[in-house]
Amino acid sequence: MLDVRGLKKVYNGGARQVEAIRDLTFTLSAGELVCLVGPSGCGKTTLLKCVAGLLTPTSGEVLLQGRPVTGPPPGMAVVFQEYGRSLFPWLRVGENVDLPLRQKGLPKARRRELVTEALAAVGLADAESAYPWQLSGGMQQRVAIARAVAFEPEVLLMDEPFAAVDAQTRADLEDLVRALWHKLGVTILFVTHDIDEAVYLGQRVLILSSSPTVVREELTVDLPDTRDQLHTRGHPRFTALRTHVQEQIQAAKRGLPSPSAAGDGEE
Ligand code: ADP
Ligand code: MG
Repeated sequence: MLDVRGLKKVYNGGARQVEAIRDLTFTLSAGELVCLVGPSGCGKTTLLKCVAGLLTPTSGEVLLQGRPVTGPPPGMAVVFQEYGRSLFPWLRVGENVDLPLRQKGLPKARRRELVTEALAAVGLADAESAYPWQLSGGMQQRVAIARAVAFEPEVLLMDEPFAAVDAQTRADLEDLVRALWHKLGVTILFVTHDIDEAVYLGQRVLILSSSPTVVREELTVDLPDTRDQLHTRGHPRFTALRTHVQEQIQAAKRGLPSPSAAGDGEE
């Protein structure tokens, strides 16, 4: 579904060059939920912008269903971290969700259906005629998720979407993402700096090194598909996985070779 091959991004700011991403290669199959975890500043947002066609890579390529991404692809939706800036304050909640559907050119009756369904799916059926600034942060982020879901994307990109909400809301939103993913069968690339969140949500976790950024390891999350905050997080396997990811990220910071790059018998 989604292929990222040899992606490199260097920002050119006059005399100062920043190599945000050195070399990233990974693949997402249709319907997968993959988390990408890495320390702040390692280039996660840069990567997502390249995948979303909002930024041109310095080299390498992004393929969506085999076709190179050169601008925002029609089948993709993005949820950003800053919900405050991603919703239009002068539009009501329903109108915010409706806007991309209008741009898609859908007929009015179908748009109505999609908006109602999406807001119900995120538990905001009653908030349709409110303005975003009348809602809490967690509710605003749910509006942003509803907007992405109503759009019926094939691929949903999420960039640290819950970093700015409180812990309880965050747990609820994580479960909401898993529930929507099960229901819609959409392919999700979820970016976070939070190791626990990555292991809790993902079928796989791609561990990024700190800058200059490469994929350090791809980890399969062999936890049961039915996850809940209490039992999954208390599962011995969950603890083992999160410890492993943490070790990898710390080793990356110290510049140690990754397991896959290390020679035979070096463990
Ligand atoms: P993350 O999302 O993982 O925190 P970013 O992708 O935002 O990381 O940033 C990666 C690196 O690229 C950082 O060193 C950051 O300062 C730099 N960077 C990000 N955007 C720009 C830009 N527009 N111009 C120059 N440097 C940038
Ligand atoms: Mg970021």
